[in-house]
Amino acid sequence: MSNQAFVANLYHAPEKGSFDYIEQACIEVDDLGMITQVLSPDHPNYATLVEQHENTRSLTRLADHQYLLPGLVDLHTHAPQWPQAGKGLDLPLHDWLNQYTFPLESRYSDLTFAARIYPELVDTLLAHGTTTAMYFATIDSAPSEYLASVCKEKGQRALVGKISMDEKSMCPDYYVESSTQQALSDAEAFIQNVNEIDAKQGLIYPVVTPRFVPTSTKALLEGLSKLVSQYQCHVQTHASESDWARDFTEQTYQKTDVELYNETGLLTRKTVLAHSIFLSESDKETIKTVGAGIAHCPLSNMYFADAAFPLREAIDKDLHVGLGSDLSGGPLPSIFHAALDAVSHSRVREAGTNTHIMEQRGEASTRVSFVEAFWLATHGGGLTLDLPVGVFKPDTTSTHLWLIATPMVAKFVFMMISIASKTSWRKSLCIPPNLRFRQFG
Ligand SMILES: [Zn+2]
Repeated sequence: MSNQAFVANLYHAPEKGSFDYIEQACIEVDDLGMITQVLSPDHPNYATLVEQHENTRSLTRLADHQYLLPGLVDLHTHAPQWPQAGKGLDLPLHDWLNQYTFPLESRYSDLTFAARIYPELVDTLLAHGTTTAMYFATIDSAPSEYLASVCKEKGQRALVGKISMDEKSMCPDYYVESSTQQALSDAEAFIQNVNEIDAKQGLIYPVVTPRFVPTSTKALLEGLSKLVSQYQCHVQTHASESDWARDFTEQTYQKTDVELYNETGLLTRKTVLAHSIFLSESDKETIKTVGAGIAHCPLSNMYFADAAFPLREAIDKDLHVGLGSDLSGGPLPSIFHAALDAVSHSRVREAGTNTHIMEQRGEASTRVSFVEAFWLATHGGGLTLDLPVGVFKPDTTSTHLWLIATPMVAKFVFMMISIASKTSWRKSLCIPPNLRFRQFG
């Protein structure tokens, strides 16, 4: 197979806080799926490139009313919780885990149950434009490896973690590792097996996944960090998700989550911390110095966080940050929806909620814009993962060429365009509402 090219109207957010729209851009993709050129019509090589691909019948032209945008990046989602999405959000985090979530996750030890759920979930995320997802699976290795193979088969870029949780006092006896040593050897075997699924072709990645501090012994955290340095793999975990989770770490270790993860060697450039609601200034400095990232999950935060994530400050401090659906703490699978939620979350934070307070009701200047939210959903997510995804430029991968779709996406495009450019892109109103996401390349 040789290079192919697309001529299309595209938009993306190569820089934080702004986005580019290129009418009739020509994107060339090589046979490994990497973008090799992105040329606008005023580029001196544009006509030659288009002609060359027309002659070899390797050119696809999108219609005028169609647009390309980068695939969306979901930095935090729990694949096994998909069956309970939208249910059980009446309880606080600790009770929610024990009453609903651990019983559900334990069912995946039965591979036939996993086979009923995982393919449908991956199809759903792809249908919502999520071409890159970082997944928590369960503590059982076989169904977690099966999830990785489903993503491989369906062509979704996936970072998949077998959960490690060995603190017996905090886990139900039916859903806990048999020992710390067994947890570590299973985590290592998982890394090796997932690496074999993809043969390091850049689509599927194993992730070291201590669930969070309460369900981990310190020996587990330290042992996992040795695997991280040995295999140079990603790390994902939860950090200060709620008052209860934050207090647990402070009372047990007299440290913040970030301090503990850093001390045990789990905080790296390829670490993604979900939530991170209660960061100290020192925590933020540590995260920035290490280059670790944060998965902001606004909808989940509204159910479990007990506070608002300081997104404005994280963006302004140049921390690596993107968005997560946090299924099923957040009930919706769409990262577009998460982008809208991030904006709404910040606006409520800025405006405040208590009508009895007439002044200083909210936190001034903490809003984020739609354009920033789109950056978080795409390029910001790619940067957080340290992967070349979420933007159209040479040396990024082509599985992000997506045709827009769905009434909500059309509306989102229109909002961004009207807010960011103030130009008369009326065409964005003409997107047929019945289009579906389609993947190219
Ligand atoms: Zn989570």
